[in-house]
Formats: sequence, structure tokens, C-alpha cells
Amino acid sequence: MTAVLPVSPVPLAAPVNAESVAIEVVQGDLSAYREGNTGIDYVHRFESGRPGPHVLINALTHGNEICGMVAARHLLDTGVRPLIGTLTVSFAHVEAYAAFDASQPFENRQIVHNLNRVWSDEWLDGPEDSPELRRARAMRPVVAAADHILDIHSTSQDVVPFWVYPAYARNAAVALAIGQPAIHLVMPSGLGSGTPLIQHGRHGQDQSTAGAALVVECGQHFRQSAADLATATALEFLVHFGLIARDGPAPARAPQRRFELLQTLMVKTTEFRFTRPLIGFETFAKDELIGTDGTDEIRAPCDDCTIFMPTRAPIVGREAVYLTRPIRP
Ligand SMILES: [Zn+2]
Repeated sequence: MTAVLPVSPVPLAAPVNAESVAIEVVQGDLSAYREGNTGIDYVHRFESGRPGPHVLINALTHGNEICGMVAARHLLDTGVRPLIGTLTVSFAHVEAYAAFDASQPFENRQIVHNLNRVWSDEWLDGPEDSPELRRARAMRPVVAAADHILDIHSTSQDVVPFWVYPAYARNAAVALAIGQPAIHLVMPSGLGSGTPLIQHGRHGQDQSTAGAALVVECGQHFRQSAADLATATALEFLVHFGLIARDGPAPARAPQRRFELLQTLMVKTTEFRFTRPLIGFETFAKDELIGTDGTDEIRAPCDDCTIFMPTRAPIVGREAVYLTRPIRP
């Protein structure tokens, strides 16, 4: 039996495709934000002059995940300044963002490499070159300097928002304290497909003096609701660390639901297929068939196996789907 978890206030709709997707958020020209004050393009830093944490709000790690761009512009356009510590606001992959084509709105996630899988010393110090590696190398000191990092993303399918973070106590504490989104994808042993920005350097070590580093997946890329949540989450992140005062009441808290990443499956062949259309949050019984990849069968490794981020259009060498199980409270 497969079933969709009743996690969503939003009806879990039919899978999103390029023909049906509504682009609700205007993708403006970001050139006005190019010249920051750090010597690194599209990176803006504000020092309070008082002791306190250094918080990084990062947008556009993936070029078509535009909700973070809205949040970062909100912080810059409204003149948000830290009461304590330091605030850095960055637009990561503006080159991919600028390649947006409304007739193929999923194509500008990346140009060559996935900018969210190259944050290991091996890649950053390695011999390869690409727009993503050049940008990651330029932004490396920005990420390394931050105590706490919020990296803002969105999903291709129209599913409820969720956090993603390594299973370190410092990350869980912050995500649970903020409490919105109410769903958490926790990674006990990384992504399994590369090193994400939030696991660069000391942020990738359990026993570490680093602060929290979280991804927030805000919903479908082009939804206004994703942009609104990205902005709200960025502000809550800053409130949590005392950089800004709360403006209005705290948001309502839903019961928190946490899932543990078991396995990241990669697409191995052009024959990759799911057994039926999947958008995320479907559950499978142990050994139930989820999909096939050439002659390989993809079966659920446990009961209540819950999938996250099934690929919308399989590409060999990229992620196919994340298999998780619920963490019982
Ligand atoms: Zn992303």
C-alpha cells in the first residue's frame, strides 16, 4: 500500500511539469546587487559594532530557486541591519539565475556542477573548473566566516516546506526552536552525493565550534508562497540569534515532524522510472517497489519509508530520490 502522508495544508497536486507550472514570482535583474562591500560580487555585509554571532543568509545556490532571491532582496531593500554581531546576505549563483528561460524554467538550476555538492576541500582545491566551482571558490571565505548559515532553497514539486540539516544537535535545536517549517529532513551521515554548502568546513563536523547551518526548502520554486516563507524564515532566523527584534507576534507552531535520511539514490540509466508519478511525501511499505533503473529495482528499505524530492525529470548522474523514515518522537 502506498499512501500520501496528511502533512500538507496545501492539496498534494499532480506532478509539476514545465508546461503547467505557473511562475508567480517576477525574476528581476540583480545587477544592482552586484557590488557589495566585501570585495566579492553579490555579497553584502553589515557589522553592528557589537559582539554577537555572524549570520549568513544565502540565496540562489540553485539558479531557479528564486524564493531566496526574494528574501535576500527584502533584507537589503528594507535596510535590515543587525543589532548585534554581523549579518551577511549573499546571492550565490547569479550566473545560473540570469540564464532563466520561462519556456524551460527547470533548466537553470545549475550550469555544469551542482553548486550545493562541491563544498569539500577535494572539490574546492581540486583541478576541475566550472561556473559553480569558480563561484564556490570565491564564496568560500564568506561561508567559512559565518557562525550560523541559512541556505534558502525550493523544490521542483509543489510540496510542503521543510528543513534539511545534518543530524547535529546544534542544527536540530535551531530548527526546532524556529518551528516553521514543521517538517525536518535530518541527515545522520550527509547527503551521500557530495558536500552541501551547509557542511563546508567546520559546519560539516559534529564535534565543532561551528554554529547551526540549515537549508530551508520553501515549497515550489515559482510560488509566491515560497517567496513569502523564505522571507519569513530569514527574518525568524535573524530573530532567533538576536540580530533583529521580532516585528509582530511569533508565528503559529505546528507539531514538528522529523524524518531521517536513509539513502540518496542517484539516477544510473536513462531507463530510470518511478512506478507511478511521485511528488514527495508518499510512503512505501518495506520492500515495496518505488521505481526501476535499468535492471535495478528500487525498493523501500523499511516500513513507512517516506520519499523526499523525487526527480521531476531523471538525469543520469543526478539525484533520483531521497529515502527516509520517520523519527518517532
Ligand atoms: Zn536547491
